[in-house]
Amino acid sequence: MDGVSSLELEIRRLIAAAGPMPVVQYVSLCLTHPVHGYYITRDPLGASGDFTTAPEVSQMFGELLGLWAAAVWETMGSPENVRLIELGPGRGTMMRDALRAINVASGFRKAIVVHLVEISPALEKAQRETLGKSSVVLHWHRALHEVPPGPAIILANEFIDALPVNQMIRQADGWHERVVTLNAAGNVVFGASANAVANFERVLPRTLRAAPIGSIYEWRSDNIAFEIGRRVSDNGAALIIDYGHSKSDVGDTLQAVGRHAFAHVLMTPGGLDVTAHVDFEALAAAAESMGSAVHGPIDQSELLRRLGIVARAAVLKEAALPEKRPEIEAALARLTNQERTGMGRLFKAIGLADPKLGPLPGFAPE
Ligand code: SAH
Repeated sequence: MDGVSSLELEIRRLIAAAGPMPVVQYVSLCLTHPVHGYYITRDPLGASGDFTTAPEVSQMFGELLGLWAAAVWETMGSPENVRLIELGPGRGTMMRDALRAINVASGFRKAIVVHLVEISPALEKAQRETLGKSSVVLHWHRALHEVPPGPAIILANEFIDALPVNQMIRQADGWHERVVTLNAAGNVVFGASANAVANFERVLPRTLRAAPIGSIYEWRSDNIAFEIGRRVSDNGAALIIDYGHSKSDVGDTLQAVGRHAFAHVLMTPGGLDVTAHVDFEALAAAAESMGSAVHGPIDQSELLRRLGIVARAAVLKEAALPEKRPEIEAALARLTNQERTGMGRLFKAIGLADPKLGPLPGFAPE
């Protein structure tokens, strides 16, 4: 029997024994079950995988983020030692491109120690292959809290969306936890906890308290936003890029993707990437509560333009063979596309930093 069926059987057994399972627990098992979890067993990125991310679209993305980090380091007072931390580095592509770009910033290059926070042994292996020849010191960790303290610059692309969400569903008597349960035929289906969660409306943003029956509210109970906020508030900065909404809202954004196509979230647990939009307002509030200043969020396209992606694309085109030039054009368009479903608009960037640093590159109005 393959891993996928094993996880489905395990989930059915867990529900049969312990009762309906909160959505957050289901998603968590799907993604990071130690044996069958989606991220644990595979490299999901790229044309032959399940989805493609900005660093896999073009080297320009990692290069611009590397130069962003170098500029931020200067506003930090060019500390002699700084941790360059990446959360969820995928194949290591973004860090490779960032490190190549910062070769021109030799002071920064000498100051950094790189920390990669990765839960997946399969992707850690890919990162070691991608970054193995690099001359910087590299450390791997399973979680951000394992990275030692000190001045830090944190980068994260499409990381927060991969962290499991809790879902609450509004019913006549209040907000219930959304769960995964078994129907009469023994199949896995969505449901709601029997009892309303007492006083849940108090933790809801005011604007959402009157949400109609059937509304779904998503929130992340992990402490990552607090941890980032705490770290950067003492001479640090973070750049987080992901898809999501600038303002907290109701809506079911849980989605599953396999082989570049959407699928049902309850299909083949462990075999699909299950994600949910990032609530940037909640993320910002959590970081702010730990002493961080908040910059943005702004559209990814806006950030990349301000960091000089158009000029960078022109330089690359100039140096490329004529038949490669359309590829560079296409990558630029894909990363900055402002249409409703384009990466440039669906994706947002937020800066979190020590308030003493003042404006961050790319976020300050021109
Ligand atoms: N940043 C990369 C990969 C995005 S996919 C890119 O843009 O291409 C999400 C990444 O986060 C993967 O590397 C995945 O293994 C990692 N990840 C998912 N959940 C994690 C967790 N709880 N802790 C640490 N890493 C995690």
